[in-house]
Amino acid sequence: CFCQLKGKIDECSCSIDTVDSFNNVKIFPRLRSLLEKDFFRFFKVNLKRPCPYWADDNRCAMRYCHVESCEEDEIPIGLKGDIKHMSFKYSENEAHDCTDQSMNLDYLNKTISEKAQHDMEKWAAYDDAQDNFCVIDDKDEEAEYVDLLLNPERYTGYAGLSAQRVWKAIYLENCFRPKKSFSFNSYIQSDRLNDMCLEERVFYRVISGLHASINVHLSANYLLSSHNGLSLKNPHGEWGPNLEEFKRRFSLETTNNEGPNWLRNLYFIYLIELRAISKAAPYLERHEYYTGNTSEDYDTKMAVKDLLSVIKSFPNHFDETTMFRGSKEANKLKYEFKQHFRNITRIMDCVGCDKCRLWGKLQTQGLGTALKILFSGHFDYDDKLLNKKQMQIQRNEIVSLLNAIGRLSTSIYKLDDFRQMIK
Ligand code: FAD
Repeated sequence: CFCQLKGKIDECSCSIDTVDSFNNVKIFPRLRSLLEKDFFRFFKVNLKRPCPYWADDNRCAMRYCHVESCEEDEIPIGLKGDIKHMSFKYSENEAHDCTDQSMNLDYLNKTISEKAQHDMEKWAAYDDAQDNFCVIDDKDEEAEYVDLLLNPERYTGYAGLSAQRVWKAIYLENCFRPKKSFSFNSYIQSDRLNDMCLEERVFYRVISGLHASINVHLSANYLLSSHNGLSLKNPHGEWGPNLEEFKRRFSLETTNNEGPNWLRNLYFIYLIELRAISKAAPYLERHEYYTGNTSEDYDTKMAVKDLLSVIKSFPNHFDETTMFRGSKEANKLKYEFKQHFRNITRIMDCVGCDKCRLWGKLQTQGLGTALKILFSGHFDYDDKLLNKKQMQIQRNEIVSLLNAIGRLSTSIYKLDDFRQMIK
């Protein structure tokens, strides 16, 4: 599969080799240490939401699907909820008001302005939600913090009908497709992609790239020792690369020639997310990365700044301005693109293995954030206007965006390990 993995990345001006060396030397090491910081390792997610599409959603009880959510005392103080933070601010104001003679009037003004503020926030949230390419559930009552470092994405054994049904619903019901594209070996044959328009091809490529990344991860982080092989020294099993598994998933023979194309799509989605981060750099540079630990927060801010300067220096970013150009048709297509993608984020609630669901949700949310940055129009302004419009990306969106590119970056890095093993 590697001899086919050469040349230009589809729809882009840069080559596989360029991305390999840029990612493996400059991006991967930076992301690896950044994503260990508290701001990025704690992700808030609702894993209990029922599947909205089919009822017999059997949750898998496999041992390696288990997700450990955080106890209250494990969550950094600054992430424990805005409520405490806000109520602290509020009582400060109240103390000040008590010394004022016109307290009642002030109280009234304050209440009215608070209501107006609240209404404005509600509308801003509504506007934002319209821009969103994904459903974000960190405000759900059932959402809980998960420590991503303690619950790594790896082989879980999740397969069979449940996994098949999810991928099938994604490709056959929620991707754009050329007519008569379904064959036994692949949902969409790559040689039929030219029958589709650019935006439709991009949609398919990002989904296929995400799928490839997940499958590279599970092959690179495979359970090597069997249950019997668990020992005191290694009570959780031994994890590492499984070349046979990788070959089965990506070689020409076993995938009806599609495997290398799927890997090329991994490079494509990587470039999409890289471009989104570069575009949102002015916003990301200003963010506080607050967790309540002053020195760590400072380090995180500096590490993000350093990463952004490297990303901005990449010469061959994807050009999103070629998409959704002009006509009414383009607006309709953009609307459909957004709806399809939102459905895919909802389908993540149908994934029957909690660990896969966690990483599936995180990565689709990260990709949705990237698409919002690229296509909502709000990030096309210069620095000042961006400020004026108060474009918001929430903490969870930043966490998922950076972790999502972290996953893709790791997959590309791991491909190099497989390359060496094959040699
Ligand atoms: P699948 O990967 O299930 O693929 C189904 C079909 O899709 C293939 O037969 C092929 O025709 C086509 N296909 C395969 N790859 C691509 C591609 N890149 N582009 C286009 N078409 C493709 N398992 C784990 O062990 N750990 C995980 O963390 C994990 N996370 C998951 C997250 C999600 C959201 C889902 C839906 C599944 C996850 N899985 C995970 C399961 C894993 O992805 C596979 O579904 C499972 O290993 C069974 O693999 P399979 O060989 O049947 O092919």
